[in-house]
Amino acid sequence: MSTIAIIGGQWGDEGKGKVVDLLAQEAQVIVRFSGGDNAGHTVINPYGEFKLHLVPVGIFSPHAVCIIGNGVVINPAVLIDELDQLNQRGVDTTRLFISDRAHLIMPYHILLDGLEEESRAGKAIGTTRRGIGPAFADKVARLGIRTGDLLDEEVLLERLRFILDYKNIMLTKIYGVSPLPLDEVYGKYCRYGERLAPHIRETATMLEEALSREELVLLEGAQGALLDPDFGTYPYTTSSSPLVGGSCLGAGLSPFRINRALGVFKAYCTRVGAGPMPTELKDEIGDLIRDRAHEYGTTTGRPRRCGWFDAVAARFSTRINGFTGIVVTRLDILDGFAQLKICVGYELDGDKTDYFPASVAALERCQPIYEELPGWQASIRHIRQYEQLPIEARQYIARLEELTSCPVNLICVGPGREENIYKTPIF
Ligand code: GDP
Repeated sequence: MSTIAIIGGQWGDEGKGKVVDLLAQEAQVIVRFSGGDNAGHTVINPYGEFKLHLVPVGIFSPHAVCIIGNGVVINPAVLIDELDQLNQRGVDTTRLFISDRAHLIMPYHILLDGLEEESRAGKAIGTTRRGIGPAFADKVARLGIRTGDLLDEEVLLERLRFILDYKNIMLTKIYGVSPLPLDEVYGKYCRYGERLAPHIRETATMLEEALSREELVLLEGAQGALLDPDFGTYPYTTSSSPLVGGSCLGAGLSPFRINRALGVFKAYCTRVGAGPMPTELKDEIGDLIRDRAHEYGTTTGRPRRCGWFDAVAARFSTRINGFTGIVVTRLDILDGFAQLKICVGYELDGDKTDYFPASVAALERCQPIYEELPGWQASIRHIRQYEQLPIEARQYIARLEELTSCPVNLICVGPGREENIYKTPIF
């Protein structure tokens, strides 16, 4: 049938989980393709409220197969805990498969993540300290251990012995902390292997077979485009690509197989952790948005920085991803504002620009140029038809479409599965 990539268009936390949960009702396969348990989706559906970090949101669709692709790094303890919690609440997890090429987060990754952040002092990246960055670094440095290695205890022991020797030198000689004992780490990962073995597969083939049966495949993004290591606000970025391009590599799929790419954007902006955010509001409006929208991280509980919609960043993100349509989430949060602002350009060192600069130093100096639009003075949560939205809300959406040159397919007006307005068809 089709493959749809669902991608965060901003700095993450856009509400991708809800969008995937909605579209997964029609899908046969849902693949998570990047990041690790630093990402987190909150989903509210008939099973209750869930915070998922690794298991694709499609797990709530009883007929769908879920895949954790090769592009994800997996902390087995977190994954097993998530599976246990889902099982306890009556969700079937036998349909979850894990790529044998996905890399594992090891105890030294978690230790080094914290130690490296501390050594950066005032220049800390603001990582979640879950070992994601060090695990991706080891993947590229060819020092990684993959889920497939868990299936052969001899291979695992040999690989772990070699790598742990090296990591223990770093831990003891550079950071002055205790080494990790080989037998302890090995024993723990053998037990993880036993538990996860029924789920570990060559998943790219499963995907190919699903596509040959013309099934609907969803590629479930984590984080957002502006955190991409190449196109985001480097070095304040994540370690794997959350872009449509990254979805091909991280799922094991040809780019020619992707039919639609949905960019998920909040109706305003948020960012968690350090790094530039030109439209950040450090005033009572920012506080109001944060409190009204409960903008605190799913994974870390950290307060998110809040600000007006940044159309310069959104246009950039739409272009590098080639979005075919946009989903605007949390439009309801803007209910009741007298005036709304959209950033339509930046002033940089006295010049106007509508380009999102590569340099973090330049982005820090960018002053947003705002356009003001009238707000709407009513709650829109109950509305399901686009025409019934207040005229001001429709003007707001129309302006986002103009500024991004991309149609809005779907508008979310509440966290619930049914709190949506379809504006134009996704296909
Ligand atoms: P994700 O990682 O992109 O899925 O985003 P998060 O899970 O961090 O945050 C999205 C939050 O927004 C979740 O708690 C959702 O239930 C909620 N949400 C999604 N869409 C809407 C919406 O349209 N309105 C409101 N009020 N909440 C929404």
